[in-house]
Amino acid sequence: MSITKEQALKQFYGYDSFRPQQAEIIDTVMAGNDCLVLMPTGGGKSVCFQIPAILRDGLTVVISPLIALMKDQVEALRGNGINAAYLNSSLSSAEQDKVMWQLKIGELKLLYIAPERLFSGNTFEFLRDWNVSLFAIDESHCISSWGHDFRPEYRQLNALKKYFPHVPVIALTATADRVTRKDILKQIGIEDAQTFVASFDRPNLSLNVLPGRGRIQQIQSFLNKHNGQPGIIYCLSRKGTETVTASLQKAGFQAEYYHAGLPSEKRSKVQEQFLKDDIQIIVATIAFGMGIDKSNVRWVIHYNLPSNVESFYQEIGRAGRDGSPSDTVLFYSYMDIITRQEMITNSDQSEEQKELLNAKLNRMKQYAEADICRRRILLSYFNEAVDQDCGNCDVCRNPRSRFDATVIAQKALSGIARTKEKVAMGMLIDILRGSKNRNILQHGYDKLPTFGVGHDLRGEEWAEYISQLLNSGVMDIAYDEAHSFKLNPASNQVLYGKRRVELVKFIPLSERKSREEAKLPKEKPKQEIIRDALFERLRVLRKQIADRMGVPP
Ligand code: ADP
Ligand code: MG
Repeated sequence: MSITKEQALKQFYGYDSFRPQQAEIIDTVMAGNDCLVLMPTGGGKSVCFQIPAILRDGLTVVISPLIALMKDQVEALRGNGINAAYLNSSLSSAEQDKVMWQLKIGELKLLYIAPERLFSGNTFEFLRDWNVSLFAIDESHCISSWGHDFRPEYRQLNALKKYFPHVPVIALTATADRVTRKDILKQIGIEDAQTFVASFDRPNLSLNVLPGRGRIQQIQSFLNKHNGQPGIIYCLSRKGTETVTASLQKAGFQAEYYHAGLPSEKRSKVQEQFLKDDIQIIVATIAFGMGIDKSNVRWVIHYNLPSNVESFYQEIGRAGRDGSPSDTVLFYSYMDIITRQEMITNSDQSEEQKELLNAKLNRMKQYAEADICRRRILLSYFNEAVDQDCGNCDVCRNPRSRFDATVIAQKALSGIARTKEKVAMGMLIDILRGSKNRNILQHGYDKLPTFGVGHDLRGEEWAEYISQLLNSGVMDIAYDEAHSFKLNPASNQVLYGKRRVELVKFIPLSERKSREEAKLPKEKPKQEIIRDALFERLRVLRKQIADRMGVPP
């Protein structure tokens, strides 16, 4: 009996239609071709390999780092009538033997396994006997050190294509910018794979940045507005999660912390309580959340600045999976940048890697500081075209005045075009400003028609406008090609006069009243300060008198 993919979707999952891209992805896999799938969390990646697993003869091996979630996923499959199993250390040896037997007699359609298990003992050798028809690599960004959650055991997956060149591979992830995507394909050895990128737009998330002073007080008033609604607070350090939790508990909120330093039973317990709505607030490090399927998370707060936009997007993406409006808040102060920079400097990464991490951090900083629709920044980061501002982020709600910068944009973009998309920030500014330095002369850039067309603006003005252009999506940057700027379809529209560009006027640092200051809660009125001081003085006096008299105050 053979059924179609649509019938499989209906029969095993009960859904009537595919979401965008799912059908094409399944066709690609069914045709025996490799592919990379980029789809947000909750987007429906599993179906993309599970339906081919059902329809194809033989076994689909699903490689996933999420041991804790394998059981749930396998049970869900079995519940839908699909023969699946997992192999990991949580199984008794009798249970493992049973799975090995099922594999031997070809009874299973899907096997979930973590890479460290696949490559330990002689499991990998057994693959040959199991009639494998598809490899699915979930969370495949873990294979790339450019990604944000590199796991060395994932590197061994380059053996798959070497030993099984004819078995198709589908790699899936919810988080990879262009550099990471390219690297995933290279590491797995499927450079020719087709890449599918689903939309990352999450219009139900409201994006907000708040000044990083008085974070706890700000959180408390936020929570009072989000009465009882479940949410996550991400902190940089384990210690941070504990102190924030303590202050919230003291203020009467129902919060628990979660980090990788806790015993695994404790972690599962907290996670479960949160899933069941027994705990309202999880205060966690980034250890919390990968693969967690809770649809009614109403808000996500970043207590500290994340290290890059991918992580940030991944983490806020855990809010509002049910499509209902949800709030996200990022606290930001300049100290957060310094802390992150120091972490990079002191890490044992290569110089090249550090430079990349700093560049990624810089995009995160631009997100926090920019006066551009925040959704626009996020989507253009993932190279998704954006036509309109969202109207729903703090920037859109309090817009700063803008000016028509189409000509400025055209100058910058034609500088990029004339140099064949090979220049980075410094060189582009030198070309625009007509600075005849050695580097420029060496490349003959002083002969370009664009040389000096932007001499009317200062270097810092150009730097600001170019990064605004980047963040508003009218040009791209290739971090793996020495950070050179690239044109995209929106750039061409600008160059051919089919699209207007508006930018926020540059204000020199010395004259700038930061967005932060402009929005900081007002100082207490003078009378209140005096009154508080008086009360404090009185309290101390009463205590002194009581002490002297040997009675309680
Ligand atoms: P991801 O792995 O991308 O985070 P999942 O594969 O776990 O997401 O899917 C998220 C949810 O979406 C699941 O509950 C799944 O059953 C549901 N889903 C997937 N495809 C469809 C579809 N075509 N129609 C309706 N729901 C779907
Ligand atoms: Mg998944």
